[in-house]
Amino acid sequence: MIALREFYDAVIVGGGPAGLATAIVLGKENLSVLLIDRRNLPADKPCGEGLLPPGLEILHDLGVNIPEHMCHPIRGIRYISGNIQAQAEFKEGSGRGIRRTVLSAALLARANEFENVQILSPARAEFPSGLDHFDGTVRISQNNSSAICRTNLIIGADGLHSEIRRLAKLERPGRAKTRFGLRKHFQSNHTLDDFVTVFVAKGSEAYLTPVGQDSFGVAILFSRNEDTRSGKEEAFEALRNRFPGLAPLTQTSAGEQGGAGPLEQRTTGVARDGVILVGDAAGYLDAATGEGISLALATAQSTARLAQMLRKSNKPLNRLQLSGYEKDHHRITWNYFVMTKMLLFMSDHPTLARPFIRIMAVRPRSFQALLSFNMGEPLFPVLRRFIAGLFRK
Ligand SMILES: Cc1cc2nc3c(=O)[nH]c(=O)nc-3n(C[C@H](O)[C@H](O)[C@H](O)COP(=O)(O)OP(=O)(O)OC[C@H]3O[C@@H](n4cnc5c(N)ncnc54)[C@H](O)[C@@H]3O)c2cc1C
Repeated sequence: MIALREFYDAVIVGGGPAGLATAIVLGKENLSVLLIDRRNLPADKPCGEGLLPPGLEILHDLGVNIPEHMCHPIRGIRYISGNIQAQAEFKEGSGRGIRRTVLSAALLARANEFENVQILSPARAEFPSGLDHFDGTVRISQNNSSAICRTNLIIGADGLHSEIRRLAKLERPGRAKTRFGLRKHFQSNHTLDDFVTVFVAKGSEAYLTPVGQDSFGVAILFSRNEDTRSGKEEAFEALRNRFPGLAPLTQTSAGEQGGAGPLEQRTTGVARDGVILVGDAAGYLDAATGEGISLALATAQSTARLAQMLRKSNKPLNRLQLSGYEKDHHRITWNYFVMTKMLLFMSDHPTLARPFIRIMAVRPRSFQALLSFNMGEPLFPVLRRFIAGLFRK
């Protein structure tokens, strides 16, 4: 028998970075929260595992402790296309290369510190009234038993293929042209520097991220046209061989490989009566900018603005009450969508990408300005820095 309260201020579906961080944010606000995940937590996920400086800052703000020996500092990004190499350090400080299992365990430990936060995994949630006209009733099932509770807000944090997004009718059909990702870990026999290295080939990139003293992950993003029918392991090998600089570094495998996709997930909005979406569930374009975890944490953090309304309301929050969250979400993710579209365009047009990387190689200040834009710096200051960087080394 599942021990549930009769009522929770919010029920979170999905315990990835977005869901667990939201549980912490609302837990800190003294709200009662139920989080369920269909998998056992802590959990792994195919991911490039690079956490950018803004994401690391949010983890600190939330009181999430990542032991230094279980991650690797990341000071900047390096692009390699054939014999051209461009790199820039983050102006915003250091990020981390961090295994998803380590991140998940750290977030889970922090969320468990709150008495008012209850976490059930593996478990499932169902909504007898549906989510397009949510009446506040949720059925939770775990280990062949189930129980009913009520809530004033469902938070869909259930990732790329979000069921909550579908049930809430916030889904938009995807475009045919989308990409997929494969990820695998390796042992390193040389000292890893503090950079994410991106190897570029036509239509695909490989992201090498140090995640520990002597281990790194490689995430390869590629388009639907690639043939992966022979199996993910074989597909990874075939794709890896496109990047001449990568093959010699990836001789000693240190784990299973995993895959994700299609990456692009479009939405008609991120809120409707009684429901909001956070993290990948709220829409995703591509992993090219390495920004997904930071955005998941940032959108989670912005749910704090709902605390006051959740405390006062005696029925599910309506769309108008959730409009502030919608605006925040748009503001937080705008740079990501612009930057990702630009990178996808470059990826499809190597004749533009190579000269661009060549220019960035000799103009690291301009490159650094682009990295800042990716991390949320407003457009005009970034443009000023980008242009100024073109005129001085
Ligand atoms: C190949 C690849 C490389 C990437 N590289 C990077 C990178 O280097 N840096 C970066 O910041 N981001 C990267 N990303 C993006 C990043 O992985 C995501 O943006 C991030 O995981 C989003 O977190 P989330 O909590 O929204 O979703 P997820 O991490 O996917 O978590 C969703 C959770 O919901 C649970 N769930 C799903 N359905 C249900 C259901 N019906 N009921 C209950 N629970 C459910 C799942 O079990 C899961 O635990 C990459 C992504 C890919 C695919």
